[in-house]
Amino acid sequence: MTDTQQHAPTTPTGPATNVGLPQERRLVTAIPGPASLERLERKKAYVADGVGTTLPVFVVAAGGGVLVDVDGNSLIDLGSGIAVTTVGNAAPAVVRNVTEQVQAFTHTCFMVTPYDGYVDVAQALAELTPGSHAKKSALFNSGAEAVENAVKIARVATGKDAVAVFDHAYHGRTNLTMAMTAKNMPYKHGFGPFAGEVYRAPMSYPFRDGLSGPEAAARAIDVIEKQVGATNLACVVIEPVQGEGGFVVPAPGFLPALSQWCTDNDVVLIADEIQSGFCRTGDWFASDHEGVVPDLVTTAKGIAGGLPLAAVTGRAELMDSVHGGGLGGTYGGNPLACAAALGAIEEMREHDLVGRARDLGALMTERLTALAAEHPVVADVRGRGAMMAIELCEPGTTTPDAARTAAVAAHCHRNGVVVLTCGTWGNVFRFLPPLSIPDALLHEAFDVVAEAFAATAPDAEPVTPVAP
Ligand SMILES: *Cc1c(COP(=O)(O)O)cnc(C)c1O
Repeated sequence: MTDTQQHAPTTPTGPATNVGLPQERRLVTAIPGPASLERLERKKAYVADGVGTTLPVFVVAAGGGVLVDVDGNSLIDLGSGIAVTTVGNAAPAVVRNVTEQVQAFTHTCFMVTPYDGYVDVAQALAELTPGSHAKKSALFNSGAEAVENAVKIARVATGKDAVAVFDHAYHGRTNLTMAMTAKNMPYKHGFGPFAGEVYRAPMSYPFRDGLSGPEAAARAIDVIEKQVGATNLACVVIEPVQGEGGFVVPAPGFLPALSQWCTDNDVVLIADEIQSGFCRTGDWFASDHEGVVPDLVTTAKGIAGGLPLAAVTGRAELMDSVHGGGLGGTYGGNPLACAAALGAIEEMREHDLVGRARDLGALMTERLTALAAEHPVVADVRGRGAMMAIELCEPGTTTPDAARTAAVAAHCHRNGVVVLTCGTWGNVFRFLPPLSIPDALLHEAFDVVAEAFAATAPDAEPVTPVAP
């Protein structure tokens, strides 16, 4: 018996049975509990302090809509490990495929001797990503690596250097992607110098700029034309719905106008769908919502049910502009990760997770709109599908209220609901439940969120917590 199992709850923890985990919020200790706190000390001793943890409960099992910790608490998951376990944790088709693959072989390196799984994933990506043109893919390990490779491909294809990105963008933590990411703390601070030829344009942010999509696009294009010049610009990289930056949804018409400008100016449009892709927004990809067809799409996070996989998918002639051997990596498209991706995609297709994301989006919109009506600190409700957010500001203003955001988050965590914050000012809650969460559990989670707002209100009366 391992150390972890000694502290395990009585609930089943085997991977194949995870979907059978009781779908309930169950608090048997304070959060975090004593067994988690003990482990937290060990983390402090051996894991670099720079690797942070939102909520230090040590997990032993997860599935459906819950995470079970070493103390036997069952927490409701509204984060999906940052939009990764969209199909649910240990989803049956993922477990089946990975189990079969791990017994057959674990690695050959696709660049040395290939295997079917890699090509199967590339074919699925060609079918699922926006547009009906001929597409090809290259597979990588992380989102940042996919973004870097998309830029490499755009540079070779156009013979140009410059990269345009947007305010509030997040593209990763490697050197090039740090340069592309907007926010200094914690992502960039002290880590420079950064890669050159990266330029930032204003994003469409309806809550803050009040511009229509075409107006915001004209503003961004003007900055790009005046400060960079289309003849120097290899690519425009944009998250169709921004992730870490605050779930900013551009005004309708912004993305289509940008896309048209790229086409007219021999600039590659790269949609970074790493957080927004794979059913999350209630479409296969967020670009689909307005019929935008990017030249290249980067994917990761939700693609493989929790195993590390990322991809660049795009126009065959662009992808093929790179010389032989110019793309790759030791582990890129690892057989286990590909098997997991094929399992995750099977779950998405068979259980209509696009439709499920829309239903969850309707449920969350209703709850969040009610919350905003009651608490004026909730200044904006936005998002699409199962990618919803609220922005907290001092009532009647656009002044961010990060302190209230932190207080609400702490209340949710203490009461067994895993919530994530984001945004340039740290004043946004993002809700990213696994699409396998039962409706009743999602409602219970939002009961706790509502209670957290009541309990942290400036004029709050002491409240009795919602009984788990
Ligand atoms: C998470 C994320 C990345 C980086 O992905 P990693 O796998 O963490 O390297 C890039 N772009 C977007 C939009 C993301 O959400």
